[in-house]
Amino acid sequence: MGFFGNEQKELIQMIYGSGSEDHLLLLDSLGDFIEKEIEPTAREIDVNAQFPRENITKMFEQGFTSMGFPKEYGGLELPWPVYVAAMEMVGKACASTALSLAIHGTCCEGVRLFSNPEQKKQFLPGMINGKTFAAFSLTEPGAGSDARNMQTQARMEGNEWIVNGTKMFTTNGGYCDLYFLFAKTAKGPSAFLVDSKKAKSSKDIEKLGVRGSVTSEVVFENAKVPKENLVGTEGEGFEYAKRMLWGGRVTIGALTTGIAQAAFEKAVKYSKERIAFRKTISEFEMTQAKLADMLTMINASRMMVYRAAHLKGQGKSFESEAAQGKLLSTESALKVCDEAIQIFGGYGYADEFDVHRHWRDARLMTVGEGTSEIMRLIISKSILHPS
Ligand SMILES: Cc1cc2nc3c(=O)[nH]c(=O)nc-3n(C[C@H](O)[C@H](O)[C@H](O)COP(=O)(O)OP(=O)(O)OC[C@H]3O[C@@H](n4cnc5c(N)ncnc54)[C@H](O)[C@@H]3O)c2cc1C
Repeated sequence: MGFFGNEQKELIQMIYGSGSEDHLLLLDSLGDFIEKEIEPTAREIDVNAQFPRENITKMFEQGFTSMGFPKEYGGLELPWPVYVAAMEMVGKACASTALSLAIHGTCCEGVRLFSNPEQKKQFLPGMINGKTFAAFSLTEPGAGSDARNMQTQARMEGNEWIVNGTKMFTTNGGYCDLYFLFAKTAKGPSAFLVDSKKAKSSKDIEKLGVRGSVTSEVVFENAKVPKENLVGTEGEGFEYAKRMLWGGRVTIGALTTGIAQAAFEKAVKYSKERIAFRKTISEFEMTQAKLADMLTMINASRMMVYRAAHLKGQGKSFESEAAQGKLLSTESALKVCDEAIQIFGGYGYADEFDVHRHWRDARLMTVGEGTSEIMRLIISKSILHPS
């Protein structure tokens, strides 16, 4: 089996039918590249908590971020499910690389959706080709799920916004060129594009998984931001953040499905090699049941995530579907990675076989970009109070 898996291929075929040939060729060759260039680096990146700049550059050179963007900004104008299939492969190869790229992609999408034509011209080409690397800075020390309660302030002085406040858990913070920053003005939460040099400081936060993807506390102290760097309408920032997160959750669902797939493939291989009671452990029905459940969860997750991507690509409402995809894929991935450790026995808990990395990487995903509890709130709202 190639790195671009059969189940992925079948879903792309289901969506695009006879029009899927070019997408499949592209994903197949991108899969080969990711397997050769990205996957072999993942373990060291995790062990050393090393920011995967080289991997990110390589993926930019492959046109990864430009996949879903319009040609007029240098994009490839490919459908969203194709980008999401590629994201799944990066997640399978190296979750730290995938998370950094996913967040950057969410910022690109925010500029595409909400900025004015001048801003698009100024920022989008550099962002999608990777010259301008971005971070999404919403969460604060006292405002995560309740992000609307942000305390970071922006006030107008002359021709500039003056920004003060502290942001928490900003992926790519300190390593980026640009912050897609949310701060309160007199009219409410608003969005700004802020040159990273304007941040006073950033401090890396040590963490359990996705250890190569940098997560920072970022401080803004009297940061001067040009008036024209306000994105969209003043006071609409929270709506923009929410919409950016809808798409972001689809990409998180995809990369997390990739994490689960990686753990699953390792578990299948090991189960056919490990001998206990003079049999391979794959001959035990209890192992078989585990593998069956793992594959079923992965395939169900993938279908939900690709469906949400397809809805997004078609311009349809997909908030609840994105939340469902994220909820299922992230909670399933945790179970899959946990079972992979179980199948490896003591060797799954030990470092040697590099299995617990997948569980540690997956563990973030029920928290970041909205917790599972918040996903359930969104989904239940769509059931009980449909808009
Ligand atoms: C590695 C990492 C990377 C991240 N990257 C980014 C990033 O790039 N940009 C960014 O802006 N943020 C980022 N985050 C922040 C992330 O989105 C938040 O951690 C997350 O939204 C939860 O917020 P919190 O940590 O403040 O938890 P809280 O909001 O304090 O939640 C604590 C617990 O209470 C529960 N809870 C809260 N409200 C409710 C409710 N109404 N009903 C039921 N339960 C509730 C939560 O589900 C959770 O279990 C990142 C976080 C991590 C760990």
